[in-house]
Amino acid sequence: MASISPQLLGLKKSFGYGDRLGLATRGHLEVNNKYDFAPIFAQQSIREMSRTGRTPADVMKAAVDALKAANYQGAWGADADHLKTENDVAPTSTAGFTFYTIDPSEFVNDQADAQPFGTLMAAVEELYSEGVFTTLDWDDRFLGEKFAAGGTVYRFDRETLYRAAGKYARALAHCEKMAAAIASANGYGGYEIEISVDETASPTSPLEHLFIALELKRRGIRIVSLAPRFIGEFEKGIDYRGDLEEFETTLKQHVAIAERYGPYKISVHSGSDKFSIYPILGRVCGNLLHVKTAGTSYLEALRTVFRVNPGLFREILEYCGERFAEDRRSYHISTTDEEIREALKKSGSGSERLFFEERPVRQLLHVTFGSVLSEGRNAAGRPFREALLETLEKHSAEHRQALEAHFDRHLGALSQG
Ligand SMILES: [Zn+2]
Repeated sequence: MASISPQLLGLKKSFGYGDRLGLATRGHLEVNNKYDFAPIFAQQSIREMSRTGRTPADVMKAAVDALKAANYQGAWGADADHLKTENDVAPTSTAGFTFYTIDPSEFVNDQADAQPFGTLMAAVEELYSEGVFTTLDWDDRFLGEKFAAGGTVYRFDRETLYRAAGKYARALAHCEKMAAAIASANGYGGYEIEISVDETASPTSPLEHLFIALELKRRGIRIVSLAPRFIGEFEKGIDYRGDLEEFETTLKQHVAIAERYGPYKISVHSGSDKFSIYPILGRVCGNLLHVKTAGTSYLEALRTVFRVNPGLFREILEYCGERFAEDRRSYHISTTDEEIREALKKSGSGSERLFFEERPVRQLLHVTFGSVLSEGRNAAGRPFREALLETLEKHSAEHRQALEAHFDRHLGALSQG
Protein backbone atom coordinates (compact mmCIF):
# COMPACT_ATOMS: atom_id res chain seq x y z
CA MET A 1 0.00 0.00 0.00
CA ALA A 2 1.27 3.46 -0.88
CA SER A 3 2.40 5.34 2.17
CA ILE A 4 0.28 8.31 2.94
CA SER A 5 2.42 10.79 4.80
CA PRO A 6 1.91 14.50 5.22
CA GLN A 7 3.95 16.76 2.98
CA LEU A 8 5.22 20.31 2.76
CA LEU A 9 2.65 22.63 1.24
CA GLY A 10 4.84 25.66 0.59
CA LEU A 11 3.48 28.98 -0.62
CA LYS A 12 0.14 27.70 -1.78
CA LYS A 13 -3.04 28.94 -0.14
CA SER A 14 -4.03 26.48 2.51
CA PHE A 15 -6.73 25.64 5.02
CA GLY A 16 -6.30 23.97 8.41
CA TYR A 17 -9.01 21.68 9.75
CA GLY A 18 -8.73 20.83 13.42
CA ASP A 19 -10.35 17.54 14.39
CA ARG A 20 -10.65 17.07 18.14
CA LEU A 21 -12.61 13.82 17.97
CA GLY A 22 -10.63 12.15 15.23
CA LEU A 23 -13.68 11.47 13.07
CA ALA A 24 -13.90 14.58 10.93
CA THR A 25 -11.23 14.08 8.26
CA ARG A 26 -13.57 12.29 5.90
CA GLY A 27 -15.96 15.24 5.87
CA HIS A 28 -13.06 17.70 5.60
CA LEU A 29 -11.71 15.78 2.64
CA GLU A 30 -15.05 15.78 0.79
CA VAL A 31 -15.36 19.54 0.99
CA ASN A 32 -11.68 20.26 0.41
CA ASN A 33 -11.82 18.32 -2.87
CA LYS A 34 -14.21 20.91 -4.24
CA TYR A 35 -11.82 23.83 -3.74
CA ASP A 36 -8.34 24.96 -4.52
CA PHE A 37 -6.84 25.01 -1.01
CA ALA A 38 -3.96 22.80 0.14
CA PRO A 39 -5.39 21.02 3.20
CA ILE A 40 -3.94 20.50 6.65
CA PHE A 41 -5.90 17.51 7.91
CA ALA A 42 -3.99 16.70 11.09
CA GLN A 43 -3.78 19.75 13.31
CA GLN A 44 -3.94 20.07 17.04
CA SER A 45 -2.27 22.22 19.66
CA ILE A 46 -0.51 20.73 22.64
CA ARG A 47 -3.11 22.39 24.86
CA GLU A 48 -5.97 20.75 22.96
CA MET A 49 -4.24 17.38 23.01
CA SER A 50 -3.95 17.49 26.76
CA ARG A 51 -7.55 18.67 27.09
CA THR A 52 -8.85 15.88 24.90
CA GLY A 53 -6.50 13.19 26.21
CA ARG A 54 -4.97 12.52 22.78
CA THR A 55 -1.35 12.04 21.80
CA PRO A 56 0.30 13.48 18.68
CA ALA A 57 0.30 9.92 17.30
CA ASP A 58 -3.48 9.63 17.86
CA VAL A 59 -4.08 12.87 15.98
CA MET A 60 -1.90 11.74 13.08
CA LYS A 61 -3.39 8.25 12.92
CA ALA A 62 -6.98 9.54 12.77
CA ALA A 63 -6.13 11.62 9.70
CA VAL A 64 -4.02 8.95 8.00
CA ASP A 65 -6.66 6.25 8.48
CA ALA A 66 -9.40 8.43 7.02
CA LEU A 67 -7.26 9.43 4.03
CA LYS A 68 -6.28 5.83 3.37
CA ALA A 69 -9.89 4.71 3.52
CA ALA A 70 -10.76 7.38 0.95
CA ASN A 71 -7.74 6.44 -1.16
CA TYR A 72 -6.62 10.06 -1.10
CA GLN A 73 -3.72 10.80 -3.41
CA GLY A 74 -3.21 14.52 -2.98
CA ALA A 75 -0.85 16.53 -0.83
CA TRP A 76 -1.76 17.37 2.74
CA GLY A 77 -0.06 18.85 5.76
CA ALA A 78 0.08 18.07 9.48
CA ASP A 79 0.26 21.03 11.89
CA ALA A 80 1.73 20.68 15.38
CA ASP A 81 -0.13 23.76 16.50
CA HIS A 82 0.80 26.35 19.13
CA LEU A 83 4.04 24.79 20.34
CA LYS A 84 5.26 26.81 23.29
CA THR A 85 8.34 25.07 24.60
CA GLU A 86 11.22 23.11 23.12
CA ASN A 87 9.82 20.03 24.91
CA ASP A 88 6.71 20.19 22.71
CA VAL A 89 8.75 19.55 19.58
CA ALA A 90 10.07 15.99 19.84
CA PRO A 91 6.73 14.21 20.46
CA THR A 92 5.09 15.88 17.46
CA SER A 93 8.11 15.31 15.26
CA THR A 94 8.20 11.62 16.20
CA ALA A 95 4.54 11.35 15.20
CA GLY A 96 5.43 12.68 11.74
CA PHE A 97 4.14 16.25 11.81
CA THR A 98 5.51 18.45 9.03
CA PHE A 99 4.22 21.90 9.93
CA TYR A 100 5.24 23.44 13.26
CA THR A 101 3.48 26.45 14.68
CA ILE A 102 5.65 28.28 17.17
CA ASP A 103 3.68 30.30 19.70
CA PRO A 104 6.03 32.70 21.52
CA SER A 105 3.19 34.76 23.01
CA GLU A 106 4.42 34.30 26.58
CA PHE A 107 7.43 36.36 25.55
CA VAL A 108 5.46 39.12 23.83
CA ASN A 109 5.30 42.28 25.93
CA ASP A 110 1.79 43.60 25.43
CA GLN A 111 2.54 46.64 27.57
CA ALA A 112 5.10 48.01 25.13
CA ASP A 113 2.50 49.98 23.15
CA ALA A 114 1.60 52.13 26.14
CA GLN A 115 4.83 52.19 28.16
CA PRO A 116 6.41 55.60 28.79
CA PHE A 117 9.52 55.97 26.69
CA GLY A 118 11.81 55.89 29.73
CA THR A 119 10.46 52.51 30.83
CA LEU A 120 10.79 51.25 27.29
CA MET A 121 14.42 52.37 27.11
CA ALA A 122 15.15 50.46 30.27
CA ALA A 123 13.43 47.37 28.86
CA VAL A 124 15.48 47.62 25.67
CA GLU A 125 18.68 48.02 27.73
CA GLU A 126 17.76 44.72 29.31
CA LEU A 127 17.48 43.15 25.86
CA TYR A 128 21.04 44.26 25.21
CA SER A 129 22.34 42.85 28.42
CA GLU A 130 20.56 39.55 27.80
CA GLY A 131 22.19 39.38 24.38
CA VAL A 132 18.89 39.51 22.47
CA PHE A 133 20.49 42.42 20.61
CA THR A 134 24.01 43.72 20.27
CA THR A 135 24.36 47.49 20.46
CA LEU A 136 26.43 47.82 17.33
CA ASP A 137 24.08 46.62 14.63
CA TRP A 138 20.98 48.14 16.16
CA ASP A 139 21.16 51.66 14.73
CA ASP A 140 22.70 50.61 11.44
CA ARG A 141 20.11 48.08 10.56
CA PHE A 142 16.97 50.02 11.38
CA LEU A 143 17.39 53.74 11.94
CA GLY A 144 17.68 55.90 8.86
CA GLU A 145 16.82 52.95 6.60
CA LYS A 146 13.83 52.90 4.27
CA PHE A 147 11.84 49.72 3.81
CA ALA A 148 9.46 49.57 0.85
CA ALA A 149 6.57 47.14 0.53
CA GLY A 150 3.45 47.39 -1.60
CA GLY A 151 3.76 51.08 -2.38
CA THR A 152 4.38 52.09 1.23
CA VAL A 153 7.76 53.16 2.55
CA TYR A 154 8.31 52.26 6.19
CA ARG A 155 10.85 53.91 8.46
CA PHE A 156 11.65 53.35 12.08
CA ASP A 157 12.44 56.19 14.41
CA ARG A 158 13.91 55.46 17.80
CA GLU A 159 10.54 55.33 19.51
CA THR A 160 8.71 53.05 17.04
CA LEU A 161 11.77 50.82 16.89
CA TYR A 162 11.98 50.55 20.66
CA ARG A 163 8.28 49.83 20.93
CA ALA A 164 8.49 47.08 18.33
CA ALA A 165 11.61 45.64 19.95
CA GLY A 166 10.22 45.95 23.46
CA LYS A 167 7.13 44.09 22.32
CA TYR A 168 8.54 41.32 20.11
CA ALA A 169 12.33 40.97 20.41
CA ARG A 170 12.34 38.51 23.28
CA ALA A 171 9.62 36.46 21.54
CA LEU A 172 11.79 36.30 18.42
CA ALA A 173 14.76 35.10 20.43
CA HIS A 174 12.51 32.33 21.76
CA CYS A 175 11.43 31.53 18.17
CA GLU A 176 15.09 31.03 17.25
CA LYS A 177 15.49 28.42 19.99
CA MET A 178 12.27 26.73 18.95
CA ALA A 179 13.29 26.74 15.28
CA ALA A 180 16.60 25.13 16.20
CA ALA A 181 14.77 22.42 18.17
CA ILE A 182 12.43 21.81 15.22
CA ALA A 183 15.33 21.62 12.77
CA SER A 184 17.26 19.18 14.89
CA ALA A 185 14.22 16.98 15.64
CA ASN A 186 13.51 16.72 11.91
CA GLY A 187 17.06 16.06 10.73
CA TYR A 188 17.40 19.63 9.39
CA GLY A 189 14.86 19.25 6.60
CA GLY A 190 11.34 18.29 5.62
CA TYR A 191 9.46 20.72 7.83
CA GLU A 192 7.69 24.08 7.66
CA ILE A 193 7.41 26.68 10.37
CA GLU A 194 4.65 29.09 11.22
CA ILE A 195 5.00 31.75 13.89
CA SER A 196 1.85 32.89 15.63
CA VAL A 197 1.46 35.96 17.80
CA ASP A 198 -2.32 36.02 17.36
CA GLU A 199 -3.09 35.23 20.98
CA THR A 200 -1.80 38.51 22.34
CA ALA A 201 -3.69 41.54 23.59
CA SER A 202 -2.67 44.28 21.18
CA PRO A 203 -2.72 44.18 17.38
CA THR A 204 0.47 43.74 15.36
CA SER A 205 0.92 46.94 13.37
CA PRO A 206 2.42 46.69 9.86
CA LEU A 207 5.61 48.37 11.14
CA GLU A 208 5.88 45.81 13.96
CA HIS A 209 5.30 43.08 11.41
CA LEU A 210 8.19 44.53 9.40
CA PHE A 211 10.37 44.44 12.51
CA ILE A 212 9.44 40.77 13.00
CA ALA A 213 10.21 39.96 9.36
CA LEU A 214 13.61 41.67 9.49
CA GLU A 215 14.53 40.00 12.77
CA LEU A 216 13.53 36.59 11.41
CA LYS A 217 15.89 37.19 8.47
CA ARG A 218 18.74 38.28 10.73
CA ARG A 219 18.27 35.20 12.87
CA GLY A 220 18.07 32.92 9.85
CA ILE A 221 14.58 31.65 10.66
CA ARG A 222 12.66 30.69 7.54
CA ILE A 223 8.93 30.57 7.95
CA VAL A 224 6.10 29.53 5.67
CA SER A 225 3.48 31.63 7.47
CA LEU A 226 3.02 34.26 10.14
CA ALA A 227 -0.13 34.81 12.18
CA PRO A 228 -0.18 38.43 13.30
CA ARG A 229 -2.70 39.70 15.79
CA PHE A 230 -5.09 41.56 13.49
CA ILE A 231 -7.18 44.57 14.37
CA GLY A 232 -10.77 43.88 15.41
CA GLU A 233 -12.12 40.94 17.40
CA PHE A 234 -11.56 37.30 16.49
CA GLU A 235 -13.73 35.54 19.04
CA LYS A 236 -14.17 31.81 18.96
CA GLY A 237 -17.08 30.50 16.96
CA ILE A 238 -18.56 33.78 15.72
CA ASP A 239 -18.03 36.29 12.93
CA TYR A 240 -15.35 38.97 12.87
CA ARG A 241 -16.20 42.17 14.68
CA GLY A 242 -14.47 45.33 13.57
CA ASP A 243 -14.09 47.84 10.80
CA LEU A 244 -13.93 45.94 7.50
CA GLU A 245 -12.29 48.75 5.56
CA GLU A 246 -9.57 49.19 8.13
CA PHE A 247 -9.10 45.42 8.24
CA GLU A 248 -8.62 45.33 4.49
CA THR A 249 -6.18 48.26 4.50
CA THR A 250 -3.92 46.73 7.16
CA LEU A 251 -4.25 43.25 5.64
CA LYS A 252 -2.90 44.63 2.34
CA GLN A 253 0.08 46.05 4.21
CA HIS A 254 0.69 42.78 6.05
CA VAL A 255 0.57 40.79 2.82
CA ALA A 256 2.91 43.22 1.04
CA ILE A 257 5.45 42.94 3.88
CA ALA A 258 5.14 39.15 3.92
CA GLU A 259 5.70 39.03 0.17
CA ARG A 260 8.64 41.42 0.09
CA TYR A 261 10.49 40.37 3.25
CA GLY A 262 9.64 36.66 3.24
CA PRO A 263 7.99 35.49 1.22
CA TYR A 264 5.56 33.73 3.49
CA LYS A 265 1.83 33.38 3.94
CA ILE A 266 -0.39 35.35 6.28
CA SER A 267 -2.10 32.98 8.65
CA VAL A 268 -5.52 33.66 10.14
CA HIS A 269 -6.18 31.87 13.42
CA SER A 270 -9.58 31.45 15.05
CA GLY A 271 -10.43 31.44 11.38
CA SER A 272 -13.77 29.66 11.55
CA ASP A 273 -17.02 31.53 11.13
CA LYS A 274 -15.36 34.81 10.08
CA PHE A 275 -17.67 35.09 7.10
CA SER A 276 -17.57 38.87 6.70
CA ILE A 277 -13.80 38.93 6.10
CA TYR A 278 -13.46 35.80 3.93
CA PRO A 279 -13.99 37.54 0.59
CA ILE A 280 -11.42 40.15 1.66
CA LEU A 281 -8.90 37.47 2.65
CA GLY A 282 -9.40 35.63 -0.62
CA ARG A 283 -9.07 38.78 -2.69
CA VAL A 284 -6.11 40.38 -0.91
CA CYS A 285 -3.95 37.38 -0.05
CA GLY A 286 -4.15 35.22 -3.16
CA ASN A 287 -1.84 32.29 -2.51
CA LEU A 288 -0.23 33.91 0.53
CA LEU A 289 -3.03 32.75 2.83
CA HIS A 290 -3.45 30.14 5.50
CA VAL A 291 -6.72 29.89 7.41
CA LYS A 292 -6.74 27.86 10.60
CA THR A 293 -9.90 26.50 12.18
CA ALA A 294 -10.05 24.25 15.21
CA GLY A 295 -13.17 24.03 17.34
CA THR A 296 -15.74 24.54 14.66
CA SER A 297 -15.60 20.89 13.53
CA TYR A 298 -16.36 19.81 17.08
CA LEU A 299 -19.48 22.00 16.97
CA GLU A 300 -20.56 20.25 13.77
CA ALA A 301 -20.14 16.94 15.57
CA LEU A 302 -22.43 18.21 18.31
CA ARG A 303 -24.90 19.49 15.72
CA THR A 304 -25.01 15.99 14.29
CA VAL A 305 -25.63 14.56 17.76
CA PHE A 306 -28.42 17.09 18.27
CA ARG A 307 -30.04 15.87 15.05
CA VAL A 308 -29.70 12.14 15.56
CA ASN A 309 -29.52 11.72 19.35
CA PRO A 310 -31.13 14.78 20.97
CA GLY A 311 -31.26 13.14 24.41
CA LEU A 312 -27.48 12.82 24.51
CA PHE A 313 -27.08 16.36 23.25
CA ARG A 314 -29.26 17.78 26.03
CA GLU A 315 -27.30 15.90 28.68
CA ILE A 316 -24.06 17.33 27.29
CA LEU A 317 -25.56 20.80 27.10
CA GLU A 318 -26.61 20.72 30.72
CA TYR A 319 -23.14 19.61 31.75
CA CYS A 320 -21.61 22.43 29.68
CA GLY A 321 -23.82 24.90 31.52
CA GLU A 322 -22.30 23.75 34.81
CA ARG A 323 -18.77 24.03 33.43
CA PHE A 324 -19.11 27.43 31.76
CA ALA A 325 -17.97 29.77 34.53
CA GLU A 326 -14.75 27.80 34.95
CA ASP A 327 -14.02 26.82 31.35
CA ARG A 328 -14.53 30.24 29.86
CA ARG A 329 -11.53 31.65 31.74
CA SER A 330 -8.87 30.68 29.25
CA TYR A 331 -10.85 31.99 26.28
CA HIS A 332 -11.44 35.32 24.70
CA ILE A 333 -15.25 35.42 24.38
CA SER A 334 -17.94 37.96 25.18
CA THR A 335 -20.73 35.58 26.25
CA THR A 336 -21.70 36.08 29.90
CA ASP A 337 -22.93 33.71 32.64
CA GLU A 338 -26.24 35.55 32.54
CA GLU A 339 -26.69 34.92 28.80
CA ILE A 340 -25.98 31.24 29.32
CA ARG A 341 -28.52 30.98 32.14
CA GLU A 342 -31.15 32.60 29.90
CA ALA A 343 -30.39 30.40 26.91
CA LEU A 344 -30.40 27.20 28.96
CA LYS A 345 -33.87 27.92 30.30
CA LYS A 346 -34.96 26.89 26.82
CA SER A 347 -32.65 23.90 26.64
CA GLY A 348 -35.55 21.43 26.67
CA SER A 349 -37.28 22.98 23.68
CA GLY A 350 -34.48 24.91 21.99
CA SER A 351 -33.98 24.82 18.25
CA GLU A 352 -30.89 23.99 16.25
CA ARG A 353 -30.70 27.70 15.56
CA LEU A 354 -30.53 28.60 19.27
CA PHE A 355 -27.82 26.03 19.94
CA PHE A 356 -25.69 26.31 16.85
CA GLU A 357 -26.21 29.70 15.22
CA GLU A 358 -26.60 32.11 18.12
CA ARG A 359 -23.54 33.33 19.97
CA PRO A 360 -24.17 32.34 23.63
CA VAL A 361 -24.68 28.58 23.28
CA ARG A 362 -22.24 28.41 20.38
CA GLN A 363 -19.51 29.85 22.58
CA LEU A 364 -20.63 27.74 25.54
CA LEU A 365 -20.16 24.56 23.50
CA HIS A 366 -16.90 25.90 22.13
CA VAL A 367 -15.12 26.53 25.44
CA THR A 368 -16.29 23.41 27.26
CA PHE A 369 -14.96 20.81 24.80
CA GLY A 370 -12.08 19.81 27.06
CA SER A 371 -14.34 19.07 30.01
CA VAL A 372 -16.88 17.23 27.87
CA LEU A 373 -14.23 15.05 26.24
CA SER A 374 -12.11 14.36 29.29
CA GLU A 375 -14.31 14.28 32.40
CA GLY A 376 -17.91 14.64 31.29
CA ARG A 377 -20.26 11.73 32.00
CA ASN A 378 -23.95 11.13 31.55
CA ALA A 379 -26.36 10.29 34.39
CA ALA A 380 -25.49 6.59 34.06
CA GLY A 381 -21.79 7.34 34.51
CA ARG A 382 -20.78 6.74 30.91
CA PRO A 383 -18.14 9.14 29.53
CA PHE A 384 -19.64 11.59 27.04
CA ARG A 385 -16.63 10.99 24.85
CA GLU A 386 -17.58 7.34 24.37
CA ALA A 387 -21.23 8.13 23.74
CA LEU A 388 -20.31 10.87 21.27
CA LEU A 389 -17.95 8.68 19.29
CA GLU A 390 -20.47 5.85 19.16
CA THR A 391 -23.24 8.15 17.92
CA LEU A 392 -21.02 9.73 15.29
CA GLU A 393 -19.74 6.40 14.03
CA LYS A 394 -23.28 5.12 13.72
CA HIS A 395 -24.33 8.26 11.85
CA SER A 396 -21.19 8.95 9.86
CA ALA A 397 -23.09 10.07 6.77
CA GLU A 398 -24.99 12.75 8.71
CA HIS A 399 -21.75 13.84 10.39
CA ARG A 400 -19.97 14.12 7.06
CA GLN A 401 -22.83 16.07 5.58
CA ALA A 402 -22.88 18.56 8.46
CA LEU A 403 -19.13 19.17 8.09
CA GLU A 404 -19.42 19.51 4.36
CA ALA A 405 -22.22 22.06 4.54
CA HIS A 406 -20.39 24.05 7.20
CA PHE A 407 -17.03 24.24 5.41
CA ASP A 408 -18.69 24.80 2.05
CA ARG A 409 -19.75 28.17 3.42
CA HIS A 410 -16.19 28.89 4.57
CA LEU A 411 -14.29 27.86 1.47
CA GLY A 412 -16.95 29.24 -0.83
CA ALA A 413 -16.68 32.70 0.72
CA LEU A 414 -12.87 32.54 0.75
CA SER A 415 -12.92 31.71 -2.96
CA GLN A 416 -15.24 34.60 -3.79
CA GLY A 417 -12.48 37.21 -3.89
ZN1 LIG B 1 -3.95 30.56 17.21
